[in-house]
Amino acid sequence: MAVVFHDGEWGELLPTQECFYCFQSLDEVAIWWRGASDIWIHAACFIELAVRMFRDVHEIETTPRGGVNRT
Ligand SMILES: [Zn+2]
Repeated sequence: MAVVFHDGEWGELLPTQECFYCFQSLDEVAIWWRGASDIWIHAACFIELAVRMFRDVHEIETTPRGGVNRT
C-alpha cells in the first residue's frame, strides 16, 4: 500500500485513474494497493469502504450461519 500525491507529474497515478469506490477522478491524492488487481481510492472513500467492510464482517460474525467462532 502506498499514498500517492499528484504534484504536477503523474508518475504512477494516471490522469485518467478513477477511484475504486466513487469512480471520480483521483486528481490530488490517492491510496494505492498493489495486488492481483491494483486498487486506487481516495482517503475519504477508504473510510467509507472500511466502515462498510467492518459492518459486513460484523454481520457474518453475528449470524448463526456465519461460520466464524471467536470464542
Ligand atoms: Zn473516491
